[in-house]
Amino acid sequence: MYQNVKAQLVQTLEEISSAGLLKNERAIESPQGPHIRFQQKELLNFCSNNYLGLSSDPRLIRSSQEALETFGFGMSSVRFICGTQTIHLELESKISKLLSREATILFPSCFDANGAIFEVLLTDADAVISDELNHASIIDGIRLSKAVRYRYRNRDMHDLEKQLSQCSSARRRLIVTDGVFSMDGSYAPLQQICDLAERYDALVMVDDSHAVGFTGKTGAGTPELFGVSDRVDIISGTLGKALGGASGGYISAHKEIVDLLRQRARPYLFSNALAPSIVSASLTALELVEQGSDLREGLARNAFHFRSKMSEAGFTLLPGEHPIVPIMFEDEHQAKQMAEIMLDLGIYVVAFSYPVVPLGRARIRVQLSAAHSPKDIDLCVAAFVQARDILSAN
Ligand SMILES: *Cc1c(COP(=O)(O)O)cnc(C)c1O
Repeated sequence: MYQNVKAQLVQTLEEISSAGLLKNERAIESPQGPHIRFQQKELLNFCSNNYLGLSSDPRLIRSSQEALETFGFGMSSVRFICGTQTIHLELESKISKLLSREATILFPSCFDANGAIFEVLLTDADAVISDELNHASIIDGIRLSKAVRYRYRNRDMHDLEKQLSQCSSARRRLIVTDGVFSMDGSYAPLQQICDLAERYDALVMVDDSHAVGFTGKTGAGTPELFGVSDRVDIISGTLGKALGGASGGYISAHKEIVDLLRQRARPYLFSNALAPSIVSASLTALELVEQGSDLREGLARNAFHFRSKMSEAGFTLLPGEHPIVPIMFEDEHQAKQMAEIMLDLGIYVVAFSYPVVPLGRARIRVQLSAAHSPKDIDLCVAAFVQARDILSAN
């Protein structure tokens, strides 16, 4: 049998490759950070989700080491059998506190959190109304539920209202959106979404993976940024980005929603508990977020610095203030070639083109970190200018 399957798989792989969509992994030889080593060469890294620079922070590493000694390596259990330690509960309550929610439930990842919530909360009597650019895990989570699906154009409030008006007979309505759209660095218009939710009697869920820890005054994410914290019902998020970047996800919500998830959520009931070292370091990351705004301000300064310098240098950016900064190119190949030249110049950035982004909207997505120095950023801008010169001379 496999001989036939093999030939088919080889063909599929060739199709992916000839469409220019093959993803190649680059094996880095150092810890994650603003400076990484790749093939014996130091690179400046501008494509990680290490927003607060905590991925290899010595305080998180120490916390993780201490937890290894105190709480061991692995749990060898799901949460409800013997996989809950005191620190798992501590982490849940710390996330609740940061996000001003009643309760929080941890998952192995945010992908799993989003995979769990819709099936538990919605049946075929209910409706879910989802932004078209929502993360893949939301799309898959919705697929696992029997809810009637509505999709609205990205951040288009007229279209959201149109969809809402079509599901007035549903038992429950749930609007779900990313807090930040990761290809654009744009925010969901949460105020307008909450207004519409009120008018059409819908729940609101925000996946704030690209915001919690560094967006909003205290790092509580986009609901805080837009002043709608008490009007959002459900927040999902990840520990795998700004908060140390290891792994783990969560749903933070009203108590009854979290209570029910503990009984019914399949990725919670049937997948291993988070490792103690990750739980402990995540607690430390949250303490750092709680303690002050230095990291957040440093990140905002870096994003502003980079955006201004790139605009001055004549590049076209998608406007905004998020540390995700898309540099736009008219030509798909140009974006790709630019990224390759940048790598030769010692700057690691990634180009995205169709179908990951719309046709004609190719871009290099730069991501800033609080750990970048002003000099790192200046070197990155200089490399962009140099790469553009090299490209136009060819
Ligand atoms: C990264 C991301 C996820 C997945 O998070 P993991 O914890 O890595 O599974 C889910 N949703 C959004 C919006 C994300 O950006």
